[in-house]
Amino acid sequence: CGVFGMYSPQPLDLAWMTYLGIFALQHRGQEAAGMCVSDGDKFHVEKDLGLVTQVFDERRLDSVRLANARVSIGHVRYSTTGSNLRFNAQPLTTRTNKGILGLAHNGNFVNAREVRNRMLMEGALFATTNDSEVMLNLIARESHMDLVEATAGAMQQLRGGYACVLMSRTALIGFRDPNGVRPLVIGQRDSGDGSYGGAYVIASEPCALYAVGARLLRDVLPGELVWVDHDGLHSMMVHPGKPTPCSFEWIYFARSDSSLDGVDTHASRIRMGEQLAREFPVDADIVVPVPDSGMGAAIGYARESGIPFDYGLYKNPYAGRTFLAPTQEARDLKVKMKLSPTSAVAGKRVVLIDDSIVRGTTSRQIVNLLREAGATEVHFRVSSPPIKHPCFYGIDTAARKELVASTHTLEQIRELIGADSLRFISERGLKEAVGGPGLCMACFNGDYPAGTPLLNDVDKLA
Ligand code: 5GP
Ligand code: SF4
Ligand code: MG
Repeated sequence: CGVFGMYSPQPLDLAWMTYLGIFALQHRGQEAAGMCVSDGDKFHVEKDLGLVTQVFDERRLDSVRLANARVSIGHVRYSTTGSNLRFNAQPLTTRTNKGILGLAHNGNFVNAREVRNRMLMEGALFATTNDSEVMLNLIARESHMDLVEATAGAMQQLRGGYACVLMSRTALIGFRDPNGVRPLVIGQRDSGDGSYGGAYVIASEPCALYAVGARLLRDVLPGELVWVDHDGLHSMMVHPGKPTPCSFEWIYFARSDSSLDGVDTHASRIRMGEQLAREFPVDADIVVPVPDSGMGAAIGYARESGIPFDYGLYKNPYAGRTFLAPTQEARDLKVKMKLSPTSAVAGKRVVLIDDSIVRGTTSRQIVNLLREAGATEVHFRVSSPPIKHPCFYGIDTAARKELVASTHTLEQIRELIGADSLRFISERGLKEAVGGPGLCMACFNGDYPAGTPLLNDVDKLA
């Protein structure tokens, strides 16, 4: 998911700003979108299933717009827990004796079910199957405390990988899990006189800051809680932990123009490709990316190997999100809806570069497309290690039994996807390419830095 929040000391069109912010985060979730806007008195909420541009037409954006808006949050959803239902769309809101609160959440809490069961026994009520509601209820019920204290208390009780923005009518809060698994950054808009005394922005990625004319101040630290109110930006270290941000943010998830925890995603993808070329060289005529996710690594592979980069696969820019297709034939046609080989591959030995293989089904069809277009050899190189374990921190890498690398050997996967050779970057190589203090690589090696759910809660392991 993607989260966005804004606090402005001067009245600002925060409905429009939030629209721009979540539109810049659309790649982080395409199932639902929503926002809350407040002027200190009124509190508007709109959310629905669909892309940002589908949910917010002009009329709907107008309905959340407030002339003197001060605080807003927004969300784009990618369902990992709770099904794709309208009432699971975010932000979630609740009424407390401190007034109405809105929460937008990215990630997963590994002990949400235990905490939820405990709260149910104590008389709490839940409207959704969404684990974000557990967080919001934990904060809401500590209504004798101030909002910052209550939020810090909730952070102490829930474990996992998460990044959230929370708003009341008068304050904006952002917080990140103790391992910093999910990203969160702070930015600020120019006040107009060049002094950067303007609105504060908290978002999943810097690209959302730039979208509203803000510059990056810094990343929220792992375990840190920040809040913005009438006297500016404040911070509290709630739960310091060992930083292990999600390696998949750099491999695939984050936008290529974002830099997270000081590491630029595009530059790191190029280094992954260079590393792949050193680890697994091959004699070939052209390097072709699977667009768009294989782009950075393909540039790196071409640079390091000296094999020319070429535009071997056209991606229809209108294809957008692909839907579930019921039959194999329909699924094959679905890939063709999105990708089609160019003349570059005819008679060529191709190094095909992608960021990951999850189920292997798309990869198999892409190899097939290249062969049909006359490629003489297809050597598949992947800029992530084989995905063998489920993610419990908010990236939907499918249940274990669907992960092709958890049930097949390298040779079996190669045969399944029909490539002449297949190689994945090493874990060590990936770590070096990203750099930084530490990384979550649990979906590759099963070493979960932020804990796992109780065994009887784990339907994903099946
Ligand atoms: P596969 O061959 O496993 O069916 O598909 C691999 C492709 O899926 C890669 O191009 C990769 O970029 C893409 N992919 C990896 N993770 C995700 C994800 O979480 N969501 C979507 N939509 N695509 C993903
Ligand atoms: Fe990211 Fe994989 Fe860790 Fe999930 S398990 S947070 S996808 S590195
Ligand atoms: Mg892809």
